Amino acid sequence: MTRIAIMGVAGRMGRTLVEAVGAVDELTLAAGVVEAGSSLTGVDIGELAGQGRLGVLASEGLATVIDEFDVVIDFTAPQVTLENLALCAEHGKRMVIGTTGFSPEQLVQLDSYRESVPFVFAANMSSGVNLTLKLLETAARALGDAGYDIEIIEAHHRHKVDAPSGTALAMGEVVAHAIGRDLETHGVFAREGQCGPRTDKEIGFATVRAGDIVGEHTVMFATEGERIEITHKASSRMTFAKGAVRAAGWLAGREVGRYDMQDVLGLK
Ligand code: NAD
Repeated sequence: MTRIAIMGVAGRMGRTLVEAVGAVDELTLAAGVVEAGSSLTGVDIGELAGQGRLGVLASEGLATVIDEFDVVIDFTAPQVTLENLALCAEHGKRMVIGTTGFSPEQLVQLDSYRESVPFVFAANMSSGVNLTLKLLETAARALGDAGYDIEIIEAHHRHKVDAPSGTALAMGEVVAHAIGRDLETHGVFAREGQCGPRTDKEIGFATVRAGDIVGEHTVMFATEGERIEITHKASSRMTFAKGAVRAAGWLAGREVGRYDMQDVLGLK
């Protein structure tokens, strides 16, 4: 039985993770950590997540529960995650990292822990998105240089502040890389007015922002006579939580090293 700690257990992902860990027989929820000074310290994390009493109380600081878990799942903030990596290195623990927004310098620091901590890090933990990236690589290799136009369309809720989404860009990069193009040169991020006909090698992006859409991505390969569309639709944050929980189970038996969701899913 692998013992799991959840960092930021009061957060949106933290609460979803309580439910996701509870659904897996091989994992046991051993600890949940909230921010220092939180009014939720000492509260049962099951009740916090709307899952009923679990008998595990919210603690302050990962150090205070260091002997109680094997793998910590961390969806918090870059600086917090880096401090936890140092703690895990010191105490021989494992980590699943879903936190995003690392600066280039912080990413270098994070990467240095590949020598001392077994950890999985992925900006999108959804198993479906990671499988989709693999499918796109295959499709692009087969079709990308055979006269098929490639267009990427993404839709998100009205509160999202960046465009195109990081996942759409990741999809574009996978496709471009598979056929020897690069997004700097071939990415087309806006079309308006008399912009002329499409060129053969461009990879177009289109963005929709509306309502409460959790996240939808379609990559289209279109030529005269047919069109192939590979689509992923996320309908709740549970998809990210399930991916993280799957990563935690997978990580339990691994050596020190940096892994991603492609490793977890056996796609490499
Ligand atoms: P959120 O703001 O709802 O939750 C973050 C939580 O972390 C908060 O409850 C906060 O109190 C807590 N926290 C911050 N510092 C802490 C500390 N020192 N100790 C304990 N808890 C601390 O945000 P969210 O929507 O849950 O997202 C969290 C992170 O996960 C973001 O970086 C987000 O981009 C990322 N995310 C990644 C994926 C993925 O698939 N990789 C999916 C969703 C969100």
